[in-house]
Amino acid sequence: MANKFYSGFVSLVGRPNVGKSTLMNRLIGEKIAIISNKPQTTRNKVQSILTKEDFQIVFIDTPGIHKPKHKLGEYMVKSAETTLNEVDAVLFLIEPADRVLESDKLIIDKLAKVKSPVILVVNKMDMVDRERIYKVIDSYSKLYDFAEVVPISAFEGTNTELLLETLKKYIPEGPMYFPADMITDQPERQIASEIIREKALRLLQDEIPHGIAVEISEMKKRNEGNVVDVTATIYCEKDSHKGIIIGKQGAMLKKIGTNARHDIEKLLGSPIYLQIWVKVKKDWRDSDFLLKNFGYDSRNI
Ligand code: GDP
Ligand code: MG
Repeated sequence: MANKFYSGFVSLVGRPNVGKSTLMNRLIGEKIAIISNKPQTTRNKVQSILTKEDFQIVFIDTPGIHKPKHKLGEYMVKSAETTLNEVDAVLFLIEPADRVLESDKLIIDKLAKVKSPVILVVNKMDMVDRERIYKVIDSYSKLYDFAEVVPISAFEGTNTELLLETLKKYIPEGPMYFPADMITDQPERQIASEIIREKALRLLQDEIPHGIAVEISEMKKRNEGNVVDVTATIYCEKDSHKGIIIGKQGAMLKKIGTNARHDIEKLLGSPIYLQIWVKVKKDWRDSDFLLKNFGYDSRNI
């Protein structure tokens, strides 16, 4: 008789910057979600897929639940809320702060309406002592009846296997939804554009707010050899931003390109020739048309 197979969907929620993308990358073991030390880096519902001999878990990296400030924000909140009721379990990530944060209280309010079991994951345990962890667990558990509580360090990998074992209890018997060797359902173009956006955000530090988007207009294998031509455009909101992104004599853009090229070559498994353009599109975050153009279409949620 064939062994039983288990499969399910798990959502990650938590304030921006708590380490959701880091955890997902740790569990899957490949770089899929982009990581930066700035909040709200993750804009899309990224699915990554972990397949082992007897189970498959599809992780959904949910953008932070927060009060929307513009159309892009609204899209992100809606997407997060829809996801929560469709999954087999929710991982609620927090950081070990010295009190329950207001933004976490907002998330807990939302979770009150969710039927899926919620696992409290106290991340960044490498940054504090045990006493603090106990206190955090205690104060959060007073506000919600969590199905499980697991302290981890996504960064160092502490307890992440334990988290997986705990999570498996909530995964029902089911089919393999995706091929065993598939680690994400995101198209390569989208991952490539996210890689460029990540590199730009990292290098630009605080000089540019989140008003950039990246579009890949070309990704094509050359007829001879295996070089892939990749053409990308970075959209920003102001002329002054454009200047900063390009940098003195193009130095900044060159750096962004060099860093991105390395990761995209890893992604595609072939050398690439990368060309990046910078264009100004004012107020793109408030425009339905431009949001759709960049793939953030609320009808796709
Ligand atoms: P997200 O916004 O929730 O997806 O958070 P990210 O995964 O992008 O992480 C935000 C920042 O926290 C990054 O600088 C990570 O390196 C850092 N980080 C994530 N997990 C840990 C952890 O377990 N320990 C420490 N010290 N830093 C972490
Ligand atoms: Mg993230």
